[in-house]
Amino acid sequence: MIKKGIKLIKNGKRIDGRLAKQLRDMEMKIDVISTADGSAKVKFGNTIAIASVRGPRALFPRHLQESQTGILRCKYAMAPFSVDERKSPAPNRRSIEISKVTRLALGPTTFLEDFPKTVIDVFIEIIQADGSTRVAGINASSIALTSAGVPMRDLVSACSVGKINGTLVVDLNGEEDNNSEADVAFAILPSKDEVTLLQMDGLLTKDELIELLNLAKDSCKKICELQKGVLREKYKSE
Ligand code: ADP
Repeated sequence: MIKKGIKLIKNGKRIDGRLAKQLRDMEMKIDVISTADGSAKVKFGNTIAIASVRGPRALFPRHLQESQTGILRCKYAMAPFSVDERKSPAPNRRSIEISKVTRLALGPTTFLEDFPKTVIDVFIEIIQADGSTRVAGINASSIALTSAGVPMRDLVSACSVGKINGTLVVDLNGEEDNNSEADVAFAILPSKDEVTLLQMDGLLTKDELIELLNLAKDSCKKICELQKGVLREKYKSE
């Protein structure tokens, strides 16, 4: 959404006290759901995403199976209690779009061709929404897939960047997202610097976009270190 005139930066500080290029406090945890093959919880400030992975497992009904490859399915949903006003649990255009871009962001990391006739299901539930939920969901999914033992080419690390009150910022919260001049959702495979998600809303100059993409890349590298840290912890204790 693009609105102007709302003061979101005062004396160089954002409404939650952060500097322009500062990420929110982030927490990551894996194996939070015992019934899943792999799961993770990612907290970006007040945004909390839970990802749960099942598979690879045989896909039924059989006519949906692909003989040469496995299939990745992603479902993003915001819980009815995740925002101030009750959110309908039914899928809407936004959640269908986010499910699709999440699948496209994660797809290049998985060796689906090694698992013909199977499906890997990724369920993302946003239990608290305060901006950047799609990227929080992608980060959670990436470590949940790894924790499920799905062979991966790389992790996927994601963050949001944008422009508020003429200032370029990273990791937008809900208020900032709703009043931004532009916001960008970004994901990379950190080892290869391969971009798997780039969505932009609003207006930016070419130079601003280039600066924001560099900021996003740096932020994703920091997020990747957190993802690796939580996975290392798991395998250290096994
Ligand atoms: P993202 O959450 O990935 O940034 P959007 O830009 O679509 O995706 O949404 C921005 C923010 O707007 C969300 O993170 C959430 O805080 C808020 N939001 C989205 N949908 C709703 C809704 N139905 N009710 C209230 N707030 C919402």
